[in-house]
Amino acid sequence: MKCAKCGSFATKLNSNDIPVCSRHSKVSVKSPKCPNCKLEMTIRKGKFGSFWGCKAFPMCDGIQKI
Ligand SMILES: [Zn+2]
Ligand SMILES: [Zn+2]
Repeated sequence: MKCAKCGSFATKLNSNDIPVCSRHSKVSVKSPKCPNCKLEMTIRKGKFGSFWGCKAFPMCDGIQKI
């Protein structure tokens, strides 16, 4: 799991369930925009770990790595 802010090893999840390192645990991480439909993305958990998924899922299947 990598910190969504700096990419270093994430030690915990912040209040939005986003992986963050100890330095960034208090920093709110902005959700990225979906590359397909420009909607906000939310954290989803799959069998390969957490990733950004489009809010419009299943209408839109835009995903992005954290
Ligand atoms: Zn960090
Ligand atoms: Zn989308």
